[in-house]
Amino acid sequence: MRKRTKTKPVFIGGVQIGGQDAVVLQSMTTTKTEHIDETLEEIHRLATLGAEIVRLAIVDGSDAAAIKELKTKTTVPLVADIHFDYRLAIQAVDAGIDKLRINPGNIGSPEHVKAVVDACKARRVPIRIGVNAGSLAPDLLDKHGRTAKAMVESAKRHVAMLEAENFTDIIISLKASDVALTVASYRLAANTFPYPLHLGLTEAGPVTSGAIKSAMAMSPLLMEGIGDTIRVSVSGERAEELRIAKTILANTSLYEQSNLIACPTCGRLSYDMMTLLAKVEAYLDANPTTLSVAVMGCAVNGPGEAKDADIGIAGGREEGLLFAKGRVVKKVPQAELFEAFVAQINAMIQEK
Ligand code: SF4
Repeated sequence: MRKRTKTKPVFIGGVQIGGQDAVVLQSMTTTKTEHIDETLEEIHRLATLGAEIVRLAIVDGSDAAAIKELKTKTTVPLVADIHFDYRLAIQAVDAGIDKLRINPGNIGSPEHVKAVVDACKARRVPIRIGVNAGSLAPDLLDKHGRTAKAMVESAKRHVAMLEAENFTDIIISLKASDVALTVASYRLAANTFPYPLHLGLTEAGPVTSGAIKSAMAMSPLLMEGIGDTIRVSVSGERAEELRIAKTILANTSLYEQSNLIACPTCGRLSYDMMTLLAKVEAYLDANPTTLSVAVMGCAVNGPGEAKDADIGIAGGREEGLLFAKGRVVKKVPQAELFEAFVAQINAMIQEK
């Protein structure tokens, strides 16, 4: 596990953020939170895909009221994402939420801040301050422009309001859609605050460009030891977000997962490899392992090209091959390849 910059440990339910080398993976639901069954289903789907913490949009009193029932039906730590309304924040804390995402500078008078902090203190609920490059205060923009300095100064203002109330269970995010600004802001924040940092790039875009931008921003930070929890946000399926986040963490030595290898295909391909690849990828999402898995396009070159994979499959016109460590284990009728793969990988996992 790669060593991380020392930060204050903060607890979200039973999950620790900061003060350790592990980086916590999180995600956010897309449902209207008051729709309990749908929200619960999504929370559990995200948890199955690797999310250790799940954030909910709390838009109104009905959403806040739903937290109580949700908490009785899941053990996944939940975060309430609230803008501006301090009463919703208190309602969420009273309903049992595990963490708030709210900016104290946006909730009105010092009395409002005190009321939220008192509620959080009573239940040991941490607060994430989320600075966004798109909504910096005009005076900070005038003084510093849209820069890392302005981002960190903005965070300092919110932090000071919480510290004035003796509240230090704080996590900070500084999100921008610009890669360079994101990296510079987090580097400066890591040198400024003792608190854990939530890494993220906001409005990263569609899946492919969003994945690239997220990896460009988060990888250098993670390799420098900066970042205690991450959320990748792209305009696409939540499963894609978590897959991208896990891949970034795995490639910065912060997460162990299977390595899925697939050939780029060529004129020798004579079966629907992409459908098989999607099924294998979904299977590995739902059944995490650290084995390396290869899905190859042809039986002639596939096993040789994927010789280091623990387990592989290569399709053909009528039958395909199941192979391990580059050696053919057996021939399988084309239609039964996926089932044969599942049986083989389960046997290998049990052996491990
Ligand atoms: S494994 Fe076969 S289909 Fe895939 S790139 Fe290599 S030769 Fe082409």
